[in-house]
Amino acid sequence: MRGVGLWTEFIPRNGQSEHSGLEEILNASSSEVVIVGGGIVGIATAYFLGLAGVRSTVVERDSVGSHASGFAYGGLSPLAGAGIPGPVFPLAREGMRLHRELARTLPDETGVSTEYRMRPSLSLAFTEDEVREARKPLGWQQEQEGYQVEWVDAARAREIEPRVSDEVLGGVYVEGGAEVEPYKFILALTQAAEKLGATVRHGNVTGLKTDGGRVTAIVTDNTEIPCGSAVLALGPWGADASSWTGLDVPIRPLKGQILRLQAPGAPFDCSIGWAGNYANTKMDGLLWTGTTEEEAGFDENPTTVARDKIMASLLKMIPSLLDAKLVQHTACLRPLSVDGIPILGAVPGLEGVYMATGAGRKGILLGPGMGKAIADLIVKDAGDFPIEPFNPGRFG
Ligand SMILES: Cc1cc2nc3c(=O)[nH]c(=O)nc-3n(C[C@H](O)[C@H](O)[C@H](O)COP(=O)(O)OP(=O)(O)OC[C@H]3O[C@@H](n4cnc5c(N)ncnc54)[C@H](O)[C@@H]3O)c2cc1C
Repeated sequence: MRGVGLWTEFIPRNGQSEHSGLEEILNASSSEVVIVGGGIVGIATAYFLGLAGVRSTVVERDSVGSHASGFAYGGLSPLAGAGIPGPVFPLAREGMRLHRELARTLPDETGVSTEYRMRPSLSLAFTEDEVREARKPLGWQQEQEGYQVEWVDAARAREIEPRVSDEVLGGVYVEGGAEVEPYKFILALTQAAEKLGATVRHGNVTGLKTDGGRVTAIVTDNTEIPCGSAVLALGPWGADASSWTGLDVPIRPLKGQILRLQAPGAPFDCSIGWAGNYANTKMDGLLWTGTTEEEAGFDENPTTVARDKIMASLLKMIPSLLDAKLVQHTACLRPLSVDGIPILGAVPGLEGVYMATGAGRKGILLGPGMGKAIADLIVKDAGDFPIEPFNPGRFG
């Protein structure tokens, strides 16, 4: 069991240690593992550690799911995105597998519906360039087990969804993807993690304490929490960990905004997309549509400029939605690494410290896989799929 060196045994699933002295120490002051960040990645790590019988404490400075993990769109589409096809695909496939599993177990375990459901997607192309780009990965996508992927011409696109613009040239129709309501998902996952022994506490982490090259505690504004391992799941704030670990963590926030609309007409049966934008009727009955990619630092305020841009993209895809009424407007920050793929694994040269961030536009899909990968590393020093491409030390 790597990285849990202060205590060399597991606390069994029922939380009872055979050694009451050890248990008293753990109960009094610490967890075996402290996780910094209550986003989907941190909470998923706590959940999978709990399944393995390892107790953890999540330290969150705002509240669980109060940033991107609670306010994303919630699309689960493993066949496209940064690093897909490529090094991210095994992680995306694992994320999807875990989401399917969690869709079965979380509602029973917690009573919270995560609003998981299968959701086809129709990605539109309006120009010959967009057609060429959309067709490039088609062969590879069609080979992936569990998905139906087809190129559809304009007439077939409008058969699938009659309201799409009559200017489309065609699109890619995918069956096999799904969606969740991100806030309900993280709420359910948190409750399930707590039932498995995890604790969530409030605190702003400012550093780590080490002894002989190994972590011994995390430091907050007003206390220290001893630990055998520390997982840094800071999302877009990941660069703050550079000064704690001595490691270059080139992560920046990429702002995105979403509108929830009361839309006229029947609900949409599939997610309509174009050039990174999307629109879909979610289970709350509202049409969720987005998005933007903005370099705005850590500003999380919704803006009218973004609202107008999102509405323009929506009307390009579905012109009949001119009369849709705005119900809610949200903005949040994606954690984007300099090479666009996650930063996931053990921090070199600092025993017991793990980094898990950089999921970019895919963190709701990838989060469970990232959490499980870190839990596996801590518990058994190995995972079920390759994470070497995400090595936190790769930036030198
Ligand atoms: C508009 C938008 C739409 C999206 N849609 C999708 C989608 O459809 N599908 C998909 O898969 N992904 C989507 N994403 C991406 C996804 O939301 C993110 O990749 C994911 O939520 C990142 O999770 P995280 O846990 O790494 O970070 P976060 O959710 O940002 O969590 C990090 C947490 O760490 C805490 N923290 C930071 N520093 C400290 C500290 N020093 N001490 C204590 N706590 C700290 C923060 O308060 C925060 O709660 C979307 C993102 C955006 C912005």
